Amino acid sequence: MSDYKIETKCVQGGYTPGNGEPRQIPIIQSTTFKYATSEDMGKLFDLEASGYFYTRLQNPTNDSVAAKICELEGGTAAMLTSSGQAASFYAIFNIASCGDHVVSSSTIYGGTYNLFAVTMKRMGIEFTFVSPDCTEEELNAAFRPNTKAVFGETIANPALTVLDIEKFAKAAHAHGVPLIIDNTFATPVGCRPFEWGADIVTHSTTKYMDGHGAAVGGCIVDSGNFDWMAHADKFPGLCTPDDSYHGITYAERFGKEGAFITKATAQLMRDFGSIQSPQNAFYLNLGLESLHVRMKRHCENGLAVAKFLEANDKIEWVTYAGLENDKYYKLAQKYLPNGTCGVVSFGVKGGRKAAEEFMKKLKLIAIETHVADARSCCLHPASATHRQMNDAELEACGITANLVRLSCGLENAEDLIADIKQALE
Ligand SMILES: *Cc1c(COP(=O)(O)O)cnc(C)c1O
Repeated sequence: MSDYKIETKCVQGGYTPGNGEPRQIPIIQSTTFKYATSEDMGKLFDLEASGYFYTRLQNPTNDSVAAKICELEGGTAAMLTSSGQAASFYAIFNIASCGDHVVSSSTIYGGTYNLFAVTMKRMGIEFTFVSPDCTEEELNAAFRPNTKAVFGETIANPALTVLDIEKFAKAAHAHGVPLIIDNTFATPVGCRPFEWGADIVTHSTTKYMDGHGAAVGGCIVDSGNFDWMAHADKFPGLCTPDDSYHGITYAERFGKEGAFITKATAQLMRDFGSIQSPQNAFYLNLGLESLHVRMKRHCENGLAVAKFLEANDKIEWVTYAGLENDKYYKLAQKYLPNGTCGVVSFGVKGGRKAAEEFMKKLKLIAIETHVADARSCCLHPASATHRQMNDAELEACGITANLVRLSCGLENAEDLIADIKQALE
C-alpha cells in the first residue's frame, strides 16, 4: 500500500483479503486463540513467533486497523488503545519511569495536561511545560539530564495553536530523545508529523478518525526512525534485557522499526490492558474509510464559519489557523497546506452572559463536550468544563469567559452560518 496516495490508503489500507475471504475487516470477537501444542504457544510467550493468544494484548481486528493508521502516518508499527488518554500515557510511560522528566508544549488537551501534571507526577515523572511559541533557547533550556521525551499537539485542543514541529524535533534530537506528537486534530490527511521529524505519533481516534461520535479509542504509531541503541543509556527499558521476557532486548531483537510498539504491547498492554475492543476497531475503520472525504468538508466548513465570525460585529475575536489574520496562519500554511480542522473558537461580545445567551439560542448546533463529530457541536468552557474557575483563573489558562468552542460538522455551511446568525441576533 505504501505507493498509493493517502485517499487510497484510507479506503483500502491495513487489510487485504485473500481468495474467498471477507471483503470487510472481520470482527474477531474472541478473547482467546487455539493452539495445537504447548510448544507452539510457548514460542508466542517468548516473543519468538508472532501470533495471538489473548485479546488483552493483541487482536487481529485491531491490528488490521492499526496497520491502516500506520500506513496513513507513514510509520513502521502501530497499536490501538482503548482511548486517546491511554495512547498518551503508553507513549510516555513506555520510555519514561519514576525519576525521569519530559518536556511538553503547554497548549495541550486538558485531559492530557491532567494526566501529565497530576497523575504521572504522582508516579514520579516530572513535566516541564513550555509555550509552543518559545524560542529555541527557551526550549533547549527546558531539558535536563533525565529528560526522556518531548511532547506536543499538531493543532492544540482547544487552544488551536499550531506547533512548529521542526523546531521541537530539532531540540528533541539535539538532546537524544524522541519527539511525540498528538496528531488528533490534524489527522494524517492534514499533516504527517514524521515528514517533519517527529518520531512517535499518538491519536485520540475518538475524534475525526471515528468521526461519527460512535467509539472511544486511541492509537500509537512509531516512525521507526529513532535510534534507541544510539542513546542506550537513556532508554534501558528498550536497550537492556527484559527479565519478564526471558532476557529479550527489544531494540536488538526488533530493531528501530519494531522495538517501541513491541515493548508497549508486551509490557504495557500485558500489565494495564487498555486495549480497544475489536467491535470499536471495526467502527473506527468505517470512519477511516471516509476520513479524507470528511476532513476536506470539515475544513471547508470551519473556514467558512471562521470567515463569517471574523466579519460579524457581535464577535470580539476569532481563533482559526486558516484565517490570514491568525497568529498561526504561517505555520498552518507550512504544516497543514490542505486545511487545518473544523474547530473554531471565538469570543462573543458582552462576556460570559452573552456567550451563554448565544449558546441557548442555537438550534442546529448542539451543546456537547465533544469535537470532530459529523454533527456540529459547541461548548462554553466557562460554564461547562471549566465552570469551577472564576474569570481571572480562566484568563490564566488562556480561556476567556466569553470563549465558545465550535466544532463544525459535515452539514451545509450556509445552514451552520444561518444558525449562528440567528443566535447572535
Ligand atoms: C480528546 C483528545 C484526547 C483524549 O482522547 P480520548 O479518546 O477522549 O481519551 C487526547 N488528545 C487530544 C488532542 C484530544 O482532542
